[in-house]
Amino acid sequence: MSGKTVLLKDADFLVRDYTTIEKKMSVVIEGNLIAGVGESSALKKEHSIDETMDMRGKVLMPGLINCHTHTAETMYRGRGHDFEFPDWMNYLVYPVNQVMEEEEEDLFYYLAQLSALEAIASGTTAFIDNSVNFTKRHVISVAKAMDDMGFRGAVSKDAVDSSPMDRGFTGPIDEEVKAEEHFLKTWQAEKSELVQAWVGPNGTAMKPNGGATNEFLVKLKELANKYDTHLHIHLAGTHWEIENVRQKTGFVGSIAMAHNLGILDDRTSIAHCIWLDDSEIDILAETGTQPVHCPSCNQICAIGVMPLVKMVEKGVESALGTDGAPQNDSLDMIRDMRQTVLLHRITHMDADIVSHKYAFKMATENGAKVLGIDNLGKIHTGYLADLTAIQVKGNPFLSPLYEPLETIIYAGSGGRDVAMTMVNGKVLYENRMFKTVDPEKVLSVIDEAGERINKKILKNFDL
Ligand SMILES: [Zn+2]
Repeated sequence: MSGKTVLLKDADFLVRDYTTIEKKMSVVIEGNLIAGVGESSALKKEHSIDETMDMRGKVLMPGLINCHTHTAETMYRGRGHDFEFPDWMNYLVYPVNQVMEEEEEDLFYYLAQLSALEAIASGTTAFIDNSVNFTKRHVISVAKAMDDMGFRGAVSKDAVDSSPMDRGFTGPIDEEVKAEEHFLKTWQAEKSELVQAWVGPNGTAMKPNGGATNEFLVKLKELANKYDTHLHIHLAGTHWEIENVRQKTGFVGSIAMAHNLGILDDRTSIAHCIWLDDSEIDILAETGTQPVHCPSCNQICAIGVMPLVKMVEKGVESALGTDGAPQNDSLDMIRDMRQTVLLHRITHMDADIVSHKYAFKMATENGAKVLGIDNLGKIHTGYLADLTAIQVKGNPFLSPLYEPLETIIYAGSGGRDVAMTMVNGKVLYENRMFKTVDPEKVLSVIDEAGERINKKILKNFDL
């Protein structure tokens, strides 16, 4: 990493965090950290500047953090809509994953880079890839792809020991633990500054498509603790799962069951958390467990709505995720901040129930908390230099501009409006150019694989 000092000079607005927006401000980056925030004349006196980037006409804000996605699923973006959730898993997800297994390892590397390209071009500076089903075999490639690009995040590796629709991705507990441990050990030995290795069971075996049995979930949490890392999981995502849990265990839901297993704490993050009893929201609050809201997936898969408002009332903060491309068709977090606001307004029939500022908090500092990084998600001195700049001057989509956050969240579109994205002090994207990866190479690999996979299976989903 370069140790140079860069001045991001004279942004029209600086969004430091969800509460603080300032006009005409500059930021100094030293190496990978924010070294100063203020007026450019004062910063120039305090720091010896090596390089200046003109931020006039732009809004500088913290990079967005996508706390739940599946990069390999980008392969079937735009396919297989209109199925009910279990059919969608059974007829699209598993068969397509199986066909993808015939592809070379490289495909998973480039799919992770494609997702990261989309992320940085839409203002996202970190994501959590939940490498599920067959993609659990390709986690090193996914982690390497992100690290090679200079992108931040975590790769959480699936582990499954029980599935009613076993398609060759389910193994005995001992083998699955061994594979999980191999991943943690191998990736931790790389000492990546940017990408963490996590344990990521797809879910409980009570899900319609199966997952990890309770005995196995306990072992996986023990493994996460042994390697001083996090556990990421889908829980309480569908009513089918909850009915199963109630029938088979007597617990009121998956969260209560998981709590009883001792796997919930502030290093466990849970995608979805839709079907919760009030007592289970209390469990999340008591344990510090971190839910991840996926508002587009809630709607596209028609699986229910996370009780976000009730959670906030009880002191439970949620992060935000796009989920995989086929549960959203986009990894643009600006769209999902807007989705968050709109979804809860119509659910509660109350236009004041969730603010755009709160959605921004979910997408920034709450995401940093899920990643376990204290100095991330805000623009303050000492914080990691993960930032994005939105082009506002001369941009007809964002004009006129009175208050930047309100305008960006309601009217913005990441891929269209982002002018620059920096991760760990390094510019990865600027003026529609990707600096650390050749997008033509990535896209040609994906296009060729897309043609093969379409011929074998995806064409079956033509409407
Ligand atoms: Zn998911």
